[in-house]
Amino acid sequence: MTTLTAAQIADTLNSGRARTKTHGQGYMAICPNHDDINPSLSVRETETGKIMLHCFGTSCTDKRAVYAAVEGALGLEPGALKGPGEGYKPSPIRRDNIKKKRADITPILPVPDDAPPIARKAKTKKFGKPTKIWTYRNAEGRVMGHVARYDIPATETDPADKVIWPWTFGIREGRREWCVTAMPEPRILYNLDKIAKNPDAPILIHEGEKACDAGEELFPNWIHTTPVGGGKAPHMTDFKPLAGRQVIISPDNDCAGVEFVAQVSQILLELETAPLIMRFPTSYVVEDGKLVKKPYEMGQGDDMHDHLDRGWTTDLIRESVSLSGFPLTWAVEDWPSNGSEEEN
Ligand SMILES: [Zn+2]
Repeated sequence: MTTLTAAQIADTLNSGRARTKTHGQGYMAICPNHDDINPSLSVRETETGKIMLHCFGTSCTDKRAVYAAVEGALGLEPGALKGPGEGYKPSPIRRDNIKKKRADITPILPVPDDAPPIARKAKTKKFGKPTKIWTYRNAEGRVMGHVARYDIPATETDPADKVIWPWTFGIREGRREWCVTAMPEPRILYNLDKIAKNPDAPILIHEGEKACDAGEELFPNWIHTTPVGGGKAPHMTDFKPLAGRQVIISPDNDCAGVEFVAQVSQILLELETAPLIMRFPTSYVVEDGKLVKKPYEMGQGDDMHDHLDRGWTTDLIRESVSLSGFPLTWAVEDWPSNGSEEEN
């Protein structure tokens, strides 16, 4: 069980993105389990302190996944929000158990060389093996933590879903172990070691590690980074290593992406670094490897990975940019060295 109140949970989930609204006896929060723009997650607590979550989003039918996503977003242990039910009278023994679950974690950073391999540890009873693990390294290349993605297959009643959990190494109850908890603040940027090692390379900021993977395929000469948690909490991440660098923000194609641009731009401007924004061209689609002019609605929250899935290549991005007079012509490929020949 967690000691957080419904109000605290809603405030944390809404951080910087929306005001916590009351809803009956509870609160409305941005749902971390789907691409939520207006708060659609009801958070309330029962008389016994059990946190009740209900998402009104149409894609959020899997309650398990909603609880897991909120636990992940808050850096709580898996199952921390499933406290005792109504009318529950805690017994001394069970109270001990609850206390154990709440134990503080003292992170050990960087992760010591003798820490057990994360690939084995990140396997969980609830979601099985992660489909992908991304490793965060500091400027010296030392491991600082991991982010694991678990894909939950569709069932007869529920659509496929995913859960993203941060893994941090630390001491809990006297034991050194991997814990599902967020990296302590200020968190480091993904690929910080590459950022440090390549002082002249442009940096593309995405909302999430999967988009970084796609970015590496499309723009291999750039460094691809994201704050931990994608677009949810950029203010918890240290952007200082980007001061004075050539930075481009590649937001997801949704309202949250616009907020991400606003928040990250403000952080960068305070570091006297003016970012460019890479909005993806929406006036062309790829058909049989060629560009076809067609006004086209991208899906909610499309990112670089979705573009790659739809057949976009680096050459096609360049071509669409010069065709459409997209304002970031000179931000695409080899920027800024050969920018002049493509500028509008
Ligand atoms: Zn939801």
